[in-house]
Amino acid sequence: MSIKKLPRVDLPADVRLDTLAVREGLPPSQWGENSEALFLTSSFVHPDAATAAARFANEEEAFVYSRFSNPTVTMMERRLAALEGTEACIGTSSGMAAILLLVMGLLKAGDHVVCSQSVFGSTIKLLQGEFGKFGVQTSFVSQTDVAQWRTAIKPNTKLLFAESPTNPLTEVCDIATLATIAHDAGALLAVDNCFCSPALQQPAKLGADIVMHSGTKYLDGQGRVIAGALCAGEQLVNEKLVPVMRSAGMSLSPFNAWVVLKGLETLSIRMRAQSERAMAMAQWLETQALVERVYHPSLPSHPQHALAMAQQSGQGGAVVTFTVKGGRAAAFAVIDATRICSITANLGDTKTTITHPASTTHGRLSEEQRLAAGITQGMIRLAVGLDDVEDLKGDLARGFASLAT
Ligand SMILES: *Cc1c(COP(=O)(O)O)cnc(C)c1O
Repeated sequence: MSIKKLPRVDLPADVRLDTLAVREGLPPSQWGENSEALFLTSSFVHPDAATAAARFANEEEAFVYSRFSNPTVTMMERRLAALEGTEACIGTSSGMAAILLLVMGLLKAGDHVVCSQSVFGSTIKLLQGEFGKFGVQTSFVSQTDVAQWRTAIKPNTKLLFAESPTNPLTEVCDIATLATIAHDAGALLAVDNCFCSPALQQPAKLGADIVMHSGTKYLDGQGRVIAGALCAGEQLVNEKLVPVMRSAGMSLSPFNAWVVLKGLETLSIRMRAQSERAMAMAQWLETQALVERVYHPSLPSHPQHALAMAQQSGQGGAVVTFTVKGGRAAAFAVIDATRICSITANLGDTKTTITHPASTTHGRLSEEQRLAAGITQGMIRLAVGLDDVEDLKGDLARGFASLAT
C-alpha cells in the first residue's frame, strides 16, 4: 500500500533534522498519546464490506494487514526517510532482508551487480551464493579503487552496491564518484549506511539512489532488536519494493519498528558521543607499544582520512580496529583480560563490544581470503559504546600489561 496520502504530523515545513528525529511519524490517535503508540495488531477492521473491497483494491488509503503496512512501522519509515533525506522508506525484518527485498525488487535473471569486496560477509554470501543461483551475477571489486568499479561495469549492470566505512578495516569509498559511475552506466547505486547512520552520513545527498540499513545496529542503538530498511524515492519504493513486500513478507514487526522508532530519537547524540569516544580510543591505541596499527577514519594515518572527514560530518564513526604484536594468542589474551567490554560480534550498542574478526565475523573465510581482505590474526575490533573512555583504556591496558610480562 502506498502510504503517502495518510495524514502528516503537523509541523512547520522548515523544521530541522533533530526535531524530525523526535517528531516525524503519524499524527497521534484519537487518545492524544505523546509517545508513539505500538500498534500490535495483525489486521485492521473496515466499517463495511464495500470499504474493505476499496481498500484491498488500493482505491482507498488505509491500513489493511501488517504484512503490507502498520502504523508503527509507517512512523519508523517516515522518521528514517526524513533523517536520510529521501522521499520514502520501507522497513524490513532485518538488514539482510532489506538486501533481499532490494535485489528481488530491482533485478531479474541476467542482470549484473558490482559490489565492493569489503562489504558485510552475509551480503557477499547473499549476492554471490543465493542470487547467483537465480542468475544474478555479481563482480566484487576494491572498496577504494574507483578504476576497478568502472572497469567492472557491463552492459547488463543494473546495480552498484557499496558500504562505507567497512567492517572491520573502516575503509571508505567515495560515494559521490560511485553514484556518477552508476548513473553514467544507467545503473542505480545502493549504499549500506549501517556504520555511520544518517546522523553522520546521508548517502542520498551524495547521489545514492537507495540507502540500506541494518536497524539492528545504531538505529536501535541498544542491541535489542533485529530490523532493517531501504530508503529511496517514492516511486522506486511504491512501484518496485512495496509489491514484493506484499507478496514475499519480509515485513518488520511493529514491536521492533517501535524500538527503532524510539532509538532514532537519540541517534544523533549517541552517534556523535560514540564516535568521539572511538576517536579518543584510536589516538590512545596509536601510542601503545604493543599495538602495531590502528584503523579509524579520524586518524591522519587512515588512507582515506580526508575523504572520510568530508563525507562523514567530520566524524570517524564508533568502530576502531587495531592489531597487536603476537598474532592470535596475543589478541585472545587482550580480549580475555577485559572486564568491561562485551565479548560479542554485534556492534552499534551503547555497551562497548570487542571481537576477534578472524575467528568470528570473518571466520567462514579461508586464511587466504582473509589475508586478501586485510584481516590478520592479531586484529581486534572495538565497537565503542557509551562506556567511560578512561575505563575502556584501563580494560585494554590490563591485556597489554599481561603481554608485556
Ligand atoms: C549487521 C549488518 C548487516 C546485516 O544486518 P542484520 O540486521 O543483522 O540482518 C548488514 N550490513 C552491515 C554493515 C552490518 O553491520
